[in-house]
Amino acid sequence: MNNRWRLIALWLLPIGMVLLLSWQLLGSNNPNSIDSKVTTAAPRNTAIARMSYGRFLDYVESGRVTSVDIYEGGRNAVVEAVDPELDNRVQRIRVDLPGLAPELINTLKEEGISFDIHPVKTAPPGLGIIGNLLFPIILIVGLILLARRSNSMPGGPGQAMQFGKTKARFAMEAETGVKFDDVAGVSEAKQDLEEVVTFLKQPEKFTSVGAQIPKGVLLVGPPGTGKTLLAKAIAGEAGVPFFSLAGSEFVEMFVGVGASRVRDLFKKAKENSPCLIFIDEIDAVGRQRGAGIGGGNDEREQTLNQLLTEMDGFEGNSGIIIIAATNRPDVLDSALMRPGRFDRQVSVDTPDVKGRLSILKVHSRNKKLSDNLSLENIARRTPGFTGADLANLLNEAAILTARRRKLAITLSEIDDAVDRIIAGMEGQPLTDGRSKRLIAYHEVGHALIGTLVKAHDPVQKVTLIPRGQAKGLTWFSPDDDQMLVSKAQLKARIMGALGGRAAEDVVFGHAEVTTGAGGDIQQVASMARQMVTRFGMSDLGPISLEGDSQEVFLGRDLMTRSDVSDAITKQIDEQVRTMVKFCYKETVDIVKNNRDAMDKLVEVLIEKETIDGNEFCSILKEYTNIPEKARSFESIK
Ligand code: ADP
Ligand code: MG
Ligand code: ZN
Repeated sequence: MNNRWRLIALWLLPIGMVLLLSWQLLGSNNPNSIDSKVTTAAPRNTAIARMSYGRFLDYVESGRVTSVDIYEGGRNAVVEAVDPELDNRVQRIRVDLPGLAPELINTLKEEGISFDIHPVKTAPPGLGIIGNLLFPIILIVGLILLARRSNSMPGGPGQAMQFGKTKARFAMEAETGVKFDDVAGVSEAKQDLEEVVTFLKQPEKFTSVGAQIPKGVLLVGPPGTGKTLLAKAIAGEAGVPFFSLAGSEFVEMFVGVGASRVRDLFKKAKENSPCLIFIDEIDAVGRQRGAGIGGGNDEREQTLNQLLTEMDGFEGNSGIIIIAATNRPDVLDSALMRPGRFDRQVSVDTPDVKGRLSILKVHSRNKKLSDNLSLENIARRTPGFTGADLANLLNEAAILTARRRKLAITLSEIDDAVDRIIAGMEGQPLTDGRSKRLIAYHEVGHALIGTLVKAHDPVQKVTLIPRGQAKGLTWFSPDDDQMLVSKAQLKARIMGALGGRAAEDVVFGHAEVTTGAGGDIQQVASMARQMVTRFGMSDLGPISLEGDSQEVFLGRDLMTRSDVSDAITKQIDEQVRTMVKFCYKETVDIVKNNRDAMDKLVEVLIEKETIDGNEFCSILKEYTNIPEKARSFESIK
């Protein structure tokens, strides 16, 4: 609304200006207006009579004139004369004079007529013109200023009037300064992309044998794995400009803006070829057309169509390569993946332990690490961390180091940083009391099951220092890169998660169990359900009983259709319940059989607040046999 008024005002102003100007010009042509420059003007009384100069001379001679006021350097005068026919009534008459003739003055003197010559106080001639022009000039200057300012104001009328033009919505970096060396842990992706560098650097190599250089590469992977970084590295290695733009910026308020942005982007790119265009979050525009809740988004479809047209429009060998990134390739429109568009897909995955190690090496280049700090141990402690997480981890550790006034990052800072990234900020430990005891039993319960069930990941540490939402925490060291998880492992995880509640139950009694196990129980339910419906690990057999429920709202299907009948649904519930009940019974048994060990462990935990995995094991060993784990946790302390 506001914008519209501004627009109207902008249009009205010039019109008003023209009107004013013409009024001014007309005004100066008006013969009467000359008076306006005379400060002491002859009274412009329209009722006043006029007479000719000759008649005036007659009047003077006949002695009827009593006084004369001369104005304008003798060009006119107002005469007071008596009319003998009308009882000598005084009349004021206006006379146009031929000029201030000395004869006239002499005559007036001779006749004894009082006269007065009013000085001409005209403004200097230049000033008059300026005076006339001043207002329009102010107006014009004002207009220019207004137009300027609104141009620079985002969303101002200036922008509204030229909205098709991209106002630097894409960024161009002439030189990214990123090299492949800066990207680590994604060696396969790097290999695939090294070829793209050659496409940009030495296209002749391919074109000479008649090869078409691919136009687009789609980088697929979870956030933070280094997709943007890779794209920059390609541009950096090839030494070409890097144009980047996020898919979400295509989709704008004004219909047609996205499409014109695409046009602009490609135009600019063609002017700067060879170059690389990077489109981040391409799923924002490239989603399956005509899908999604509430029907398709026309604007998005137009933008996508424009993108496809542009991609088809330029020759394969024009030196422009488009790299797009997404973490949802499943929702992309298939037209995008057609050969000749993003026909190459490169997946960028979360790094494995070796990858993490090399990423840590890259990011520790500019950090001071203490000598005995082993990056391998950090890499091992951080399964599931992406490149961005690891960069963040080292940075957090460096901040902690500075806060602790140390000269180099040590293991304890890394440890704290990992805990903080995973579980949140450290809180104040509870004071001794009943709830602290209960939490201690709960955590020891988790750790006990984790240690005594063979298939469970080993315990890394148990702590009563709260972090984030958790009042106490038991850390396990998951096997790195668990691509495949066995049924025994899943069962062990369910038991481990139930360990906390089982301990509360056994030690404090059924009536005293707390809400603290809420999160654990949720996990249990979801794991058990997946075992039944997705992994075919129940008596119902290897049947997938659930669609991929994550796709709702994200494009293709409005809802996931349920493939199962009511009878099966009931069976699923039964299976889940049986499985969890069985696991819980086993868990409770383990807790009951190790009551003494638990009491001891709780005592130590309350005293020390934190016990590490090795210490936990050595205390437990005095009471019972600990099964040999496939991997034992190597303490990083
Ligand atoms: P994405 O685009 O996949 O979400 P980015 O490329 O933006 O992730 O990564 C963010 C930051 O994380 C990078 O600037 C870099 O510091 C770090 N990073 C991510 N992946 C890697 C990697 N493989 N090697 C080195 N640093 C990485
Ligand atoms: Mg990115
Ligand atoms: Zn718990």
